[in-house]
Amino acid sequence: MDAFLLVEPYITGIISILGIFFIEAFIVASFKLYIKQFLSQRTYRIVITLISGLIMTLFSIYFMMMSQKEDYYLIFGNLRMIIILIPIIFLNRNISLVSVILCSVFRLFYYGMTLVSLGYIAIFTSFFLLVVVIQLIVKQNQLLTFIYSLISASIFWIWIYLTNFDGYHSYYFFAVFSDYLNFVILSIIAYVSASYLYHLNNLLFQTMEESLTDELTKLRNLKDFNAKMNEGFFKAREKKEAFSLIIFDIDYFKAINDTYGHLAGDIVLKNLAKTIQEIDELKKVDVFRVGGEEFTIILSKKNGTETVGIAEKLRKKVESTNFYYENQLIHVTVSVGVTSLVKGLRSEITLNGFMELADEALYHSKHNGRNKVFSSDVLTGEFK
Ligand code: GH3
Ligand code: MG
Ligand code: MG
Repeated sequence: MDAFLLVEPYITGIISILGIFFIEAFIVASFKLYIKQFLSQRTYRIVITLISGLIMTLFSIYFMMMSQKEDYYLIFGNLRMIIILIPIIFLNRNISLVSVILCSVFRLFYYGMTLVSLGYIAIFTSFFLLVVVIQLIVKQNQLLTFIYSLISASIFWIWIYLTNFDGYHSYYFFAVFSDYLNFVILSIIAYVSASYLYHLNNLLFQTMEESLTDELTKLRNLKDFNAKMNEGFFKAREKKEAFSLIIFDIDYFKAINDTYGHLAGDIVLKNLAKTIQEIDELKKVDVFRVGGEEFTIILSKKNGTETVGIAEKLRKKVESTNFYYENQLIHVTVSVGVTSLVKGLRSEITLNGFMELADEALYHSKHNGRNKVFSSDVLTGEFK
């Protein structure tokens, strides 16, 4: 029975830590997958911080109430420290700030402004500040923040031992020492499991991102284009919204490869991608590389006239940009095809039919001297 009492805080601690961090990692991943796209970067950060902060607060309050029980004060006080420490290292210090503030407010309302309450609020607040300062000093290094925080946290145990401010537990040296040891061991378990979940989440999103990114130009790839086209086209057609597609292809690219070499061709592709994204109207729009030297742009809610304007801007920008390979100037032009669904007009055109129209407009540009923009009318198929 005695042996059980000795290991019990560790078992409860490990189960609690794994549970909390799994819930947190799951929420962060779900938000990134399903909610992030609807919010601005700033709003998303605020929302995820508040929600995570609230989760940590609820657990903190639960731990605080549990630590009032005579048999449990050791383990649950430690868990409260750990869920302040780990989010600062792996997520965002504001999450811990939210939980420290809310939990302090709760404590004052629930237990009143007693000396013990103020003592604990002082410990948790200073621990938060201590970790933040350490993090700033070691320039966000996760492992160093962790190690220094564990070592410096020992001052709180020394403080409790010396002042014995929490009158209803009798603190003697062995109890304080085993309490600190429990904190260190559980913190290590928390650090390792949080680090695993953190890297797993990052790897998941990095892999997802890479599967939709073109390796050479870092533009979106064909797979992403097909998905976005499927999503955008049918929605626009159903709601009778304007919806436009630009397709463009580098002129005589084979000649560039033949004259300057394949590597020069690659550099032209890379720099062309960069150049295009400098155009104001395209800064917040996905540009896709759908073939060797063929690109597309989806413009939701943009009508034909606006789109041709943007396409013309793009053509001129490429024409007037000097591309270089090993100090050799390479002149590059593109031929462009455009097609658009018209706002308010019912259309029966299929997705393939729509993409073929843009393709035909592109070939019309190729056959009419290249370095041109043509659009094909979605009703008549005529070129303009
Ligand atoms: P057009 O004006 O009719 O488009 O002529 P073009 O020479 O650009 O057209 P074509 O389709 O005949 O040639 C495309 C060339 O693009 C052939 C291929 O070797 C080259 N290419 C495709 N992908 C890459 C790539 O990733 N890097 C390089 N350097 N070349 C590529
Ligand atoms: Mg070409
Ligand atoms: Mg081509």
